Amino acid sequence: MQYVSTRGAAPVLTFEEAMLTGLARDGGLYVPAEIPAMKAEDIAALAGLSYEEVAFRVMRPFVGDAFTDTEFGDLIARAYAGFGHAARAPLVQLQPNHFLLELFHGPTLAFKDFAMQLIGQLFEAALTRRGERVTIVGATSGDTGSAAMEAFRGLDAVEVFILYPHGRVSDVQRRQMTTVSEKNVHALALTGDFDDCQARLKDMFNDFAFRDGVRLAGVNSINWARVLAQVVYYFTAAVSLGAPHRAVSFCVPTGNFGDIFAGYIAKRMGLPIEKLIVATNQNDILHRTLSSGDYAPTGVVPSISPSMDIQVSSNFERALFDAYGRDGRAVGQLMAELKAGGFHVSQGALERLREDFASGRASEAETSAMIARAKAEFGELLCPHSAVGVHVAQDHLGATPLVTLATAHPAKFPDAVEDATGIRPALPPRMADLFDRPERITRVENDLARIEQLIRDEVMA
Ligand SMILES: *Cc1c(COP(=O)(O)O)cnc(C)c1O
Repeated sequence: MQYVSTRGAAPVLTFEEAMLTGLARDGGLYVPAEIPAMKAEDIAALAGLSYEEVAFRVMRPFVGDAFTDTEFGDLIARAYAGFGHAARAPLVQLQPNHFLLELFHGPTLAFKDFAMQLIGQLFEAALTRRGERVTIVGATSGDTGSAAMEAFRGLDAVEVFILYPHGRVSDVQRRQMTTVSEKNVHALALTGDFDDCQARLKDMFNDFAFRDGVRLAGVNSINWARVLAQVVYYFTAAVSLGAPHRAVSFCVPTGNFGDIFAGYIAKRMGLPIEKLIVATNQNDILHRTLSSGDYAPTGVVPSISPSMDIQVSSNFERALFDAYGRDGRAVGQLMAELKAGGFHVSQGALERLREDFASGRASEAETSAMIARAKAEFGELLCPHSAVGVHVAQDHLGATPLVTLATAHPAKFPDAVEDATGIRPALPPRMADLFDRPERITRVENDLARIEQLIRDEVMA
């Protein structure tokens, strides 16, 4: 299996190389040269299998010869052993033909654990075999950071730095990053918003002297392996609702377009998905783009669903690549226009996007109202991100079963949940002492040279 860049001007890589590299050297994102198809009978055969077994069968063709079957199976088993639910991604019914896919039973209580726990295992196995060390730098809107630290803490082969927007993550999210005691992980509080964090991260990847000097690797959803791990739960959910014999739709709370893009890959592999519904909060650039064709960032307005407070949505580039017939030059052109303020999606590309994607948005008031309603009517305590999804899903209920992704545990966002319902959700027992642990934070300005210096000093120390 070979991987190509969405901008068409970077070396073609293997799975392992693309995983260890992160961003392509032409600024693009790696995608498989071809999407392997899964036959209907092979999809039907997934029914009744464990999550780990489905994960193996769905991901195996993408991985090529990076790992043997036995190795890959063992790494998957280790990745999901620490989850707090036997099904890993259980499905519960909310309304007639409307289901909630609970993706928050991993160690840091958000869906990011599904990919990050696996990536931690894959990185360690690959780096140990190669005898190499890497420096992982990540940007987080709140949940990727803790998931990465949890997955990589204490490993010899990696030094981890996470940039998060100072003052714009919940207290639980911050403490999950700042109270990790292992010395190979570092939380950097940047003065700015998530888009600033992600922009500095991309700058570091485009500074080849720095990139090569510290052996920079990325675990944001720009990393293909992240997206791949998330394809799996689309299969487990759809199959348990009758796929491949029955089509299913998904409603996905979206920021960086990574999670929903994984659903698109599942569809391209042959899973019968009718619609993939993009659900945004008030930072609704993806909803506006799918409605009008204009991709025009307006600046982030902080919301009660902070993990989706994003206006420059990295993985949308992967969707554009396909919508433009895999024309890397056309995508490169759009991204150059984005640097200058925004771009317009061509009519043909927009029509192609709309074949797979629908969209909606939830205001702050609508999000709060849905948290309250879900508790009162469905008996479910939703995190604000999941509530954005359930709100948008209301416009799409019908004959096709609809699955809304519950992306985080309500206890990660206790203030928003308490404001809406009067109930303050408790952290699971294993995290009950989170607020007693000492914090370790480094403040950084939104200044590339200083961030790079800090990382170099730490890595060379
Ligand atoms: C990351 C995150 C999202 C958005 O996921 P994307 O892949 O960036 O679209 C939604 N909800 C929660 C809780 C998250 O942590």
